[in-house]
Amino acid sequence: MSQQILFKNFELLEPSFGELRGGYQLLLEGDTVKEISETPIKATDATVIDCGKRTLMPGLIDSHVHAIHSEVNVRFMEMLPLTLITARAATRLRAMLDRGFTTVRDTGGADWGIKTAIETGHIVGPRLYIAGHSDSRRRTNRGGECACCNGLQFKSAVADGVDEVRKSAREQMRQGADHVKIMMSGGVASPYDPLDSLQFSDGEVAAAVEEATAFGRYVCAHAYSAEAITRAARLGVRTIEHGNLIDDASAKLMAEKGMYLVANLVTYYAMKDRAAQYGMIGESLAKNEIVLQGGLKSLEICKHHGIPVAYGSDLLGELHWDQSKEFVIRQEVVSPIEIIRSATTIGAEILRMPGRLGTLQPGAFADAILVDGNPLKDLALLGDQGKHLSLIMKAGFLHKNLLN
Ligand SMILES: [Zn+2]
Repeated sequence: MSQQILFKNFELLEPSFGELRGGYQLLLEGDTVKEISETPIKATDATVIDCGKRTLMPGLIDSHVHAIHSEVNVRFMEMLPLTLITARAATRLRAMLDRGFTTVRDTGGADWGIKTAIETGHIVGPRLYIAGHSDSRRRTNRGGECACCNGLQFKSAVADGVDEVRKSAREQMRQGADHVKIMMSGGVASPYDPLDSLQFSDGEVAAAVEEATAFGRYVCAHAYSAEAITRAARLGVRTIEHGNLIDDASAKLMAEKGMYLVANLVTYYAMKDRAAQYGMIGESLAKNEIVLQGGLKSLEICKHHGIPVAYGSDLLGELHWDQSKEFVIRQEVVSPIEIIRSATTIGAEILRMPGRLGTLQPGAFADAILVDGNPLKDLALLGDQGKHLSLIMKAGFLHKNLLN
């Protein structure tokens, strides 16, 4: 029998409940939740952990990160050898786990090598779901990229035309992609494409969707404008990344199609504050102002239309330390329990792991955090680089334990 751990004396924050509930005990066996009960659990061989009335909740899920993106200015990635980006990714991933994120969804850059390194214990980090590799050619580069091994080249893939998109999607999935990421509008960090530009033709998007679906995967689309969101919805994309400039009509369509939004407001605040000091150029900073305005409003629109919104951070380079500030930023328009759900159950739905991730129900992975206080009353308890987390567990393994 695998090792058992029995948690006692905690307030349970199960996202579906909507409030803290006392009087439970939780039994883990190996990497899985075996039992949760309001009556004492008999497990004589289990290691007992007295939680001292702290709040026990599922480990957090960030549905939009870039594990290897260790520069704020995308171009600077060109100066990094793969060994250095991997070393930096290791630091970034450990910091995520230290903040209580036991699962993250990488939306561009991380590959199966890093994922495997985590799974085999060579790198300490959260469970990692990957997309593989976006267009980041220089303006001076007119053809394909040279196949040199710098960080920028590594994180990028360019596909023009239906056949190339098809081929590239297949290649990413062959390389272990859990989802296929496509860029359907201009971006902030990408300097040359206007925010309202539309990218990929209908046929190209449809090809990506067809290939992803055939392989048992799905397409997530980077999209800011209402028009880009509408096209994505019409063509079978499953999740919209960012979505800051969404309007009622595009939201209505998303709701009809059963789509998800992965919002990431914190990155725009962080870029406004500090991106210039890390070399982000004026064009990007100007675009950032525009999407920053739309952030909170996009959450209100999604709420109105019943679109599930996942927790994302999307922080590049040294801005990654702000990962947990998204909790506090959203409070202005969303209730704490809904924000907690965005970082647990909704993230799990996007990853197609409901019941296994984002919950402490039997059968779930033993991914849990113990919070010194009630996050429903104070979401800032999930901040400060994990300072208010007495215990962090991933797959039954205690990454952190300040209890005795
Ligand atoms: Zn991103």
